[in-house]
Amino acid sequence: MSTPSSPETVSTSVLVIGAGGAGLRTSIELAQNDVDCLVLGKRAHGDAHTIWAAGGINASLGSLDPEDRWEIHAADTLDEGHFVNDPTAVEMLCRRAPDRIRELAEWGMDFDRTDEGKINQRYFGAQSFRRTCFVGDRTGQALMDTLVQKAMD
Ligand SMILES: Cc1cc2nc3c(=O)[nH]c(=O)nc-3n(C[C@H](O)[C@H](O)[C@H](O)COP(=O)(O)OP(=O)(O)OC[C@H]3O[C@@H](n4cnc5c(N)ncnc54)[C@H](O)[C@@H]3O)c2cc1C
Repeated sequence: MSTPSSPETVSTSVLVIGAGGAGLRTSIELAQNDVDCLVLGKRAHGDAHTIWAAGGINASLGSLDPEDRWEIHAADTLDEGHFVNDPTAVEMLCRRAPDRIRELAEWGMDFDRTDEGKINQRYFGAQSFRRTCFVGDRTGQALMDTLVQKAMD
């Protein structure tokens, strides 16, 4: 009769459970701040709901509609959420989204571009402006590929 192998003991400062977009981005931030972390997933690398997010990611970059602003993004989000969503979280998301999109582009995410080379944006959901950044119809897959690669670097 075979005996089960002894479990390996691993020490880490932060244990991130879940290796989807949120878990991977958290682990990258921790590593960039020299915090030791371990990401624990239950699926193969890159397999998470995040890959199904085909539509795109909203950020008030104003590539096509320069009048767009994070405040309008926040208002649209609260309105569409029927004011159930946490206003503090919505503000944080909408304020930071443009920089996070530019960061993803720097990390190699191949966003669709306008003829002028700006990150392209389209209408999606209840948005007042063209605000959704996308990679064809595979935005979530491209996001996961980018984050997995960055996390492994
Ligand atoms: C069909 C679909 C389309 C969508 N389209 C869009 C869109 O166009 N734009 C948009 O912004 N959002 C969209 N979303 C929402 C978006 O995908 C999610 O909000 C986002 O991916 C959530 O990321 P996450 O990292 O929190 O979760 P996930 O990507 O689900 O990652 C969670 C991870 O945790 C792992 N896990 C769970 N339990 C455990 C455990 N006990 N131990 C270890 N690991 C565990 C899972 O295996 C998974 O890898 C869509 C969602 C779906 C399902």
